[in-house]
Amino acid sequence: MRDTATVPVAAAPVPLIDLQAQRQRIGSRIEAAIKRVLDHGAYIMGPEVYEAEKRLAALCGAQHVVSCSNGTSAMVMALMAWDIGRGDAVFVPSFTFTATAEVAAIVGATPVFVDVLPDTFNMDPDSLERAIAVAEQTGLKPRVVIPVDLFGQPADHDAIRVIADTHKLYVLDDAAQSFGASYKGRKLGAIADITATSFYPSKPLGCYGDGGAVFTNNEEWAKKLMQVRVHGQGRDRNENVRIGLTARFDSIQAAVLLEKLAIFEDECAARDKIAARYDAGLKGHVTTPFIRPDSTCVWAQYTIRSPRRDRIVAALGAKKISTAVFYAKPIHMQPPYRGFPVAGSGLPVTEKLAQDVVSLPMHPYLAPEVQDEVIATVCGAAS
Ligand SMILES: *Cc1c(COP(=O)(O)O)cnc(C)c1O
Repeated sequence: MRDTATVPVAAAPVPLIDLQAQRQRIGSRIEAAIKRVLDHGAYIMGPEVYEAEKRLAALCGAQHVVSCSNGTSAMVMALMAWDIGRGDAVFVPSFTFTATAEVAAIVGATPVFVDVLPDTFNMDPDSLERAIAVAEQTGLKPRVVIPVDLFGQPADHDAIRVIADTHKLYVLDDAAQSFGASYKGRKLGAIADITATSFYPSKPLGCYGDGGAVFTNNEEWAKKLMQVRVHGQGRDRNENVRIGLTARFDSIQAAVLLEKLAIFEDECAARDKIAARYDAGLKGHVTTPFIRPDSTCVWAQYTIRSPRRDRIVAALGAKKISTAVFYAKPIHMQPPYRGFPVAGSGLPVTEKLAQDVVSLPMHPYLAPEVQDEVIATVCGAAS
């Protein structure tokens, strides 16, 4: 007879982000909210869309919120509202999700890649200066900088603002991973000229499909953003005042977002607690995330650094614990982007980070026992 006690029980796989755990909490409220949309039938620009915009504005303190179809179109809308195009340089980090650089190319402008800081993984202001010099030498017109608030933490917005003002650049903040975070007491959304975010399901504030929003305190830009959102429409559908897109947020996703907004603060606090437990368990074994003392983080990812990164990934993988390497191949090294300029003296930090970062499971419903298992496995593989 087999001794069942010696048969290892296969532990349930641990996902990086567990949306089903969240659904258990608010599933019935979400189903009721979707049913309300099905009942009233205003699938496009229904009341939920306007309500979501109002709540998002209140949450971050921005005067104008224009919801839209996703985070990528949110940034494209901003660039189109500013008439960015051929011959214009748009400064972007390379250590980010592809969309940050893609949007510059989509409007016909030139992405110019900037290095990041080794501690926050956010844009390095000195590298931005060197990138502006390269753009000018190349005959490009410096127009926009897109600092990214990576993994949930704001970039150094004051330092970037000084450079942007000196060179007359617009600041378009890519807050796709960090809506809800604050910098020097102010929430993202009310800091840059225009801020874009994404409600992709796995973002800290996600819906159950695609969605996004654009934030600004400038009324004229807000008006243009609303025009771009709907085919450059003017006063009514018989008038087209500019080239636009079809980039609306839909009512069902807005209904989902409203339910998620109700628990957002609570979820951010839960992620903070999990990050603190990781910090305590992992310190001294790997490089744990550095959060600036003047900022808060909403923990889109909990990303560590270690020279033994690949061993850590394998050890966690053997226990069916998911990890992800954001970003294993920086954008400036991807084939469609290889021809675009990079900052003077290159992107050494970006290229180094690609070798040694790894993101661990992080979501508000991660059980302490599972966390302890992750910590023990990482520490074992890192030493
Ligand atoms: C997710 C993401 C985007 C794009 O958002 P979508 O809604 O998927 O288009 C842009 N930038 C960053 C940094 C992201 O993480």
